[in-house]
Amino acid sequence: MPQTANSSAERLIDRHGRTVNYVRISVTDRCDFRCVYCMSEDMEFVPRAQLLTLEEIATIARAFTELGVDKIRITGGEPLIRRNVIKLFRDIGELSALRELVLSTNGSQLAHMAMDLKQAGVKRINISLDSLNADKFRRITRVGDLNKVMTGIETALQTGFERIKINAVILKNRNHDEVTGLVQYAIDKGIDISFIEEMPLGMIGDHDRTEVYYSSDEIRSDLEKSYTLIATTESTGGPSKYFRIPGTNTRVGFISPHSHNFCDTCNRVRITCEGRLLLCLGQEHSVDLRHVVRGWPGDMEKLKQTIRDSMLIKPKGHEFDLDARPVILRHMNVTGG
Ligand code: SAM
Ligand code: SF4
Repeated sequence: MPQTANSSAERLIDRHGRTVNYVRISVTDRCDFRCVYCMSEDMEFVPRAQLLTLEEIATIARAFTELGVDKIRITGGEPLIRRNVIKLFRDIGELSALRELVLSTNGSQLAHMAMDLKQAGVKRINISLDSLNADKFRRITRVGDLNKVMTGIETALQTGFERIKINAVILKNRNHDEVTGLVQYAIDKGIDISFIEEMPLGMIGDHDRTEVYYSSDEIRSDLEKSYTLIATTESTGGPSKYFRIPGTNTRVGFISPHSHNFCDTCNRVRITCEGRLLLCLGQEHSVDLRHVVRGWPGDMEKLKQTIRDSMLIKPKGHEFDLDARPVILRHMNVTGG
């Protein structure tokens, strides 16, 4: 189990005995990219009035830390394109019970925001990078500029975060031939990399998920042609299973919702950009926190009690099935991957 530094007397424990100490918050569903596995090309975004305000997000974050949560990840959509988001990072970074403030980003804004993020207290950054080839990168992200992302990664490296990790979603015949190149890039930069199996979240018209499925085991066996992978029991508090490559600083992680179920040790919940507290990425069980912060403004106890009660409906696990139509209709950008 991940360590916990939050000295709050309270803990959030679900009815399956799992302690929840990690919250992922989607601060916007909007994005400057349109990755094929995440969004459709012509996405309809949530009306702005339905999005949590930055102040509401900070209040919810505070409530969670008072309930024993010590790690918060800011994600999206692309979190760094939300206006004034640095203020939110600063507010959350100041929460005394928080051990780790971390970020998931596509890297497009890092060149000009990395220093502000570090100063706000961000410790670790996950940066999505699915290809090192500009044309392929454009095809996968539909609109993304690889150059901008590479510059962002370089700036983040120079800014000196505790850890930077690349996240790559691998799709058969799109980028599965790049796994070795991506690992070599991570080794050269002295950073970690995780490979993610695509999850069936939301309908995406022109994208057949069964056709592009490429398992973690296939990626591992591709990598083993070039590298020795030594299994470790290390954890960063997330679902990655890690391997070390001897003689390097790089850990290679695999997030495998299909081939390896990680629900037994689930320690996290998610908050959507509309303030829905999602108890499981792969199920629809949720509680409307926006209703509470707007209906009872300033009532921290009401908010905390709602969160405590939500632990009763955290499901035992997800039920992803690639062959079925998606039962989960929300896209990853709303959920916060
Ligand atoms: N925009 C940021 C980014 O791309 O890192 C943060 C949000 S994004 C939704 C978070 C992570 O979810 C990214 O690493 C992305 O590759 C991953 N992701 C998006 N849709 C996915 C899907 N259907 N299956 C698996 N991972 C997905
Ligand atoms: Fe945007 Fe991230 Fe989704 Fe790509 S994965 S469309 S960068 S939110």
